[in-house]
Amino acid sequence: MREARRGDRRREEAELERLAANARACAAPGTRLVGAKEITSLEPDVKGIAALFCPDTGIVDPVELTRSLLADAEDRGAMLVTRAEVTAIGRERKDYRLQTSREEIRAAAVVNAAGLRSDEVAAMAGVRKYRIHPWRGITSGSSRRPSTGI
Ligand SMILES: Cc1cc2nc3c(=O)[nH]c(=O)nc-3n(C[C@H](O)[C@H](O)[C@H](O)COP(=O)(O)OP(=O)(O)OC[C@H]3O[C@@H](n4cnc5c(N)ncnc54)[C@H](O)[C@@H]3O)c2cc1C
Repeated sequence: MREARRGDRRREEAELERLAANARACAAPGTRLVGAKEITSLEPDVKGIAALFCPDTGIVDPVELTRSLLADAEDRGAMLVTRAEVTAIGRERKDYRLQTSREEIRAAAVVNAAGLRSDEVAAMAGVRKYRIHPWRGITSGSSRRPSTGI
């Protein structure tokens, strides 16, 4: 049993070394192997013998991040209404009245985050100075200067 565990550990350490070598070959900045002590100092809830530390890398689960942001917003009194197209925006004293395909919503403030249709939503609130012109395209960049000089 102990021998099998030692074998597993050697295999996992070799795999970590392989990943570290690959990170170095890819010039991933600051990537290095850390031992048990440093793992605990970096992440007190994580126990381990060895790990690959990548200071410039993070993994985010976008669905969980969105749920977490929603939970924070709801804690502060926000309410999520989905599948509700805003079709008109009116004012009543200081409040906004939003007609939607589901229900009428009153709000003290409105943040227009309607993406490519945010100009249409702004116009509903009487702001007509914006016009979005969508077009297709590809954005690319390069750190090298073209050798041809063209
Ligand atoms: C095909 C495609 C590929 C892309 N790929 C990339 C990429 O690889 N990387 C990248 O960084 N960006 C990419 N983008 C751009 C990126 O999607 C946008 O920059 C980003 O989604 C804009 O976010 P936003 O919240 O402002 O708007 P959106 O994400 O467009 O959100 C706007 C929301 O408002 C809602 N809405 C609109 N009108 C109303 C209304 N009247 N009432 C209620 N709701 C309304 C819409 O349904 C939508 O849910 C891509 C875009 C497209 C179209």
